[in-house]
Amino acid sequence: MSARVLVVDDIPANVKLLEARLSAEYFDVATAYSGAEALALAERAECDIVLLDVMMPDMDGFEVCRRLKSNPATHHIPVVMVTALDQPSDRVRGLEAGADDFLTKPVTDVALISRVRQLSRLKMVTDELRMRALTTKEIGMQSPEREAVAETGRNGRILIVDDRKSSYERIAQTLAAEHTIDIETNPAEAMFHAAEGNYDLMIVSLGLENFDGLRLCSQVRSLERTRGLPILAVAEPDNNQRLVRGLEIGVNDYLIRPIDKNEMLARVRTQIKKKRYTERLRDNVHASIEMAISDGLTGLFNRRYMETHLGALVEQAAARGKPITVLILDIDFFKAINDGHGHDAGDDVLREFALRIRKSIRNIDLACRYGGEEFVVVMPETDMAVATMVAERLRRKVASEPFAIQQGAKQLSVTLSIGIAALAGPEDTAATILKRADTALYRAKRDGRNRVVADAA
Ligand code: GH3
Ligand code: MG
Ligand code: MG
Repeated sequence: MSARVLVVDDIPANVKLLEARLSAEYFDVATAYSGAEALALAERAECDIVLLDVMMPDMDGFEVCRRLKSNPATHHIPVVMVTALDQPSDRVRGLEAGADDFLTKPVTDVALISRVRQLSRLKMVTDELRMRALTTKEIGMQSPEREAVAETGRNGRILIVDDRKSSYERIAQTLAAEHTIDIETNPAEAMFHAAEGNYDLMIVSLGLENFDGLRLCSQVRSLERTRGLPILAVAEPDNNQRLVRGLEIGVNDYLIRPIDKNEMLARVRTQIKKKRYTERLRDNVHASIEMAISDGLTGLFNRRYMETHLGALVEQAAARGKPITVLILDIDFFKAINDGHGHDAGDDVLREFALRIRKSIRNIDLACRYGGEEFVVVMPETDMAVATMVAERLRRKVASEPFAIQQGAKQLSVTLSIGIAALAGPEDTAATILKRADTALYRAKRDGRNRVVADAA
């Protein structure tokens, strides 16, 4: 899939020029001739990366960039400013507006293509996470976009890998004003250091004495523990080829010596912001997976998860000739608890009940909330005799210790009934076992409740 680049410039000839070069490299190109037009296109998610002219009438590039970066809908789109200005102070102004990089007119092909390619590759990773995380917004979780827009990129943990004292001291001194800094002067140790230190950014000098800094960058990218660690390379001037190579193997950004302090501060903040945003997206995805399989009130697995998983467990047990047993538990006269003490008291009982189940079973057992006040426990590699003992112990634990409700103000005695069924042969399935456990439960209820009944099959 080719990335779609939005070229923004008020001068049609400039637009045409960039469009031609990008098209020649098989990028899909969209164009805009003013800031307002660009904002509208970006808002409609019609581009993956923006090449933005700085000097435009009405709204200049800095302002367009600021607006893109402060809008939760567009802040994640990489912005490269294209400018005739080449003073460090101009660059810093753009970086502070949130730009990801600068290209100076006249733009060389190598710089243009390698940067656009690298930024669109990075964006694809974020897009994938965004897509998966999006649904969590609908169920009311914190929006990573909103948090990202407020993120300052300060207070990061940074590892500097550099063997020249005069160089790393200067870098460290500047960054220490807003970050925590560690220095590694031995590049052979840097990999280990990076993997252990929980860093937000690694700064690597490409001019190390006896070590190829790019090799380190590539190692950092290939190791699971450090894959997400942003890398800022520090390069000597006139070493374009190595920089291009660096961007290809996963360096996120670079600085050219002599380093402009403000530019370094701005680029470091940008990288830390991006890393934190990606982490939030990842957490969000994890949380949504968690939500999809667990019950919100008790934290046990939910019914859908249990039913899917039970199928696999039963098949596996049948194939290996191992026992597996299923318990269905149902609280007795639960409706009376709700009616007599309120729905909240009922919820307290359910939570405490789930806790007691969890404490009575092993790690490999699967406990789930099956519905209202019904629970299922699946016990792999457990026969009916052992399962009956576990069930009986749980029944006693519930019946003998009252449940606290209304923050401990009251205590209730609660009992439960349990039906048990075990895998009975190669033809048996999750559904038939559950059905027999349910029939056993029904008998426990009919015979007077507060008891365990095992299926006879
Ligand atoms: P039995 O001994 O026959 O099982 O009687 P029971 O009252 O426990 O069973 P019944 O199925 O008649 O009632 C279950 C009640 O559980 C009805 C429903 O309102 C309540 N309930 C279901 N889900 C929840 C919940 O999440 N919280 C609370 N507080 N109550 C719930
Ligand atoms: Mg009940
Ligand atoms: Mg019930």
